[in-house]
Amino acid sequence: MADKQFDVLVIGGGPGGYVAAIRAAQLGFKTACAESNPYADPKGEPRLGGTCLNVGCIPSKALLHTSHLFEEAEHAFPTQGIKLSGKVSIDVPVMIERKNKVVDQLTGGIKGLFKKNKVTFLAGHGSFEGNGAGGYVVKVGAETVEAKHIIIATGSKPRHLPGIPVDNKIVCDNVGALDFDSVPKKLGVIGAGVIGLEMGSVWRRLGSEVTVLEALPDFMSFADVDVAKEALKVFNKQGLNIQTGVTIGETKVSKKGVSLAYTDKDGKEAKFECDRLIVSVGRVPNTDGLNAAAVGLNVSDRGQIVVDGHCRTNLPNVYAVGDVVRGPMLAHKAMEEGVMVAEIIAGQAGHCNMDTVPGVIYTSPEIAWVGKTEQQLKAEGIAYRAGKIPFMANGRALGSGDPTGFVKMLACAQTDRILGVHIIGANASELISEAVVAMEFGAASEDLARICHAHPTLSEVVHEAALAVDKRPLHF
Ligand code: FAD
Repeated sequence: MADKQFDVLVIGGGPGGYVAAIRAAQLGFKTACAESNPYADPKGEPRLGGTCLNVGCIPSKALLHTSHLFEEAEHAFPTQGIKLSGKVSIDVPVMIERKNKVVDQLTGGIKGLFKKNKVTFLAGHGSFEGNGAGGYVVKVGAETVEAKHIIIATGSKPRHLPGIPVDNKIVCDNVGALDFDSVPKKLGVIGAGVIGLEMGSVWRRLGSEVTVLEALPDFMSFADVDVAKEALKVFNKQGLNIQTGVTIGETKVSKKGVSLAYTDKDGKEAKFECDRLIVSVGRVPNTDGLNAAAVGLNVSDRGQIVVDGHCRTNLPNVYAVGDVVRGPMLAHKAMEEGVMVAEIIAGQAGHCNMDTVPGVIYTSPEIAWVGKTEQQLKAEGIAYRAGKIPFMANGRALGSGDPTGFVKMLACAQTDRILGVHIIGANASELISEAVVAMEFGAASEDLARICHAHPTLSEVVHEAALAVDKRPLHF
């Protein structure tokens, strides 16, 4: 007999797991959530919120915000007549402390949400033991727990490179990169993905000389081709030194920094030295110590738990959501899947539309997209019409002193249904929601073109892009 019994046991308390647990409890299930990370709260218990709240989305956005304010104070204030007496400077420990407070508040808040929704929090690592009379038996810390339904939400961990050991002091993954005690003079970033660009931006804004080394030949090949081109132009102008097509060679790490040999895109041997190095070359699904074999759970060669479109694994009543399964590694995708699975367990029609999961890079300008890129439509032979409007043509963007970038809308040539929207510009992360809603409702570009948008707002550029699909923009 297990020590504790539940209807639903969620393993992992990140965005996928904690949201699944709350929704399952709302639906009337006796629910527990097990979490075992090393980020202890003041009571010494693991914090909830997973990668996202502890060492991902939230702390990175807190640092992006502070560094943005710093850059504005340094460069934008004088252009608008705001004078500061003395040189603008950054107190890094204060910035990090503020970031930590935001993390404390949010992670603690989830424990409060668990109480409110009657989810039992189990501090401890979950690993399968086998099958019991009432479901699956899982060891959580020193206790055994039995549950009819299991939701695995064990997330991901940073991928490291052979020969470049991460100590999170000199060579850092996301954990160390969010906790520097000072601004490095020279910072190296391996990997020009979302995390590399965001972290590189934080420290560049604060004064680091940042070099980003990317193995792929094309910059941001995952984004729409026009957006990638504009982003490279803007980031280079900001002073981010981005090199693509690079092969990393021997790396020597000392207490003073890193010396790194690499071959550039033309095959030339080069050397690079920096005080600190961030390794951001992707993340790997986390099934460490889950003991999947004890119950015959299917895990792919890439370490992902194999699931269908509804996050069902090969085992009855066992589901997996978030970074540990296929699809984009994004907190909002994990949360959607968590809700879907809880509702399926309750016999409802849980649903998660992968075609309308937005992607965002919180650089300056921000980059956001949903749906297909222009190159994908070309490759798939889908006929489309495109409308593209720069923020330069928008009064609010000019008034705010931030007119970089554009909105690009792609719509089916036959039906006019919106197939993709790509934004590079201020507040792109917020603007993309309109496109997501439109696409979820199967809207045509004409629908958006005929909707009244408040003036003066940046959303008028989305409106104009919709008008531009039909070649009738009014302000460009
Ligand atoms: P996780 O958040 O990784 O949570 C899994 C949890 O399970 C962890 O707390 C882990 O300790 C726990 N766990 C693992 N195994 C066990 C076990 N056996 N027993 C008990 N507990 C276990 N996404 C966005 O959408 N927007 C962003 O802006 C964004 N920014 C990011 C910035 C950075 C620097 C990083 C690293 C990531 C960012 N992400 C962002 C990605 C986002 O953090 C992840 O997609 C999201 O956290 C995935 O949620 P999850 O619940 O699947 O897994």
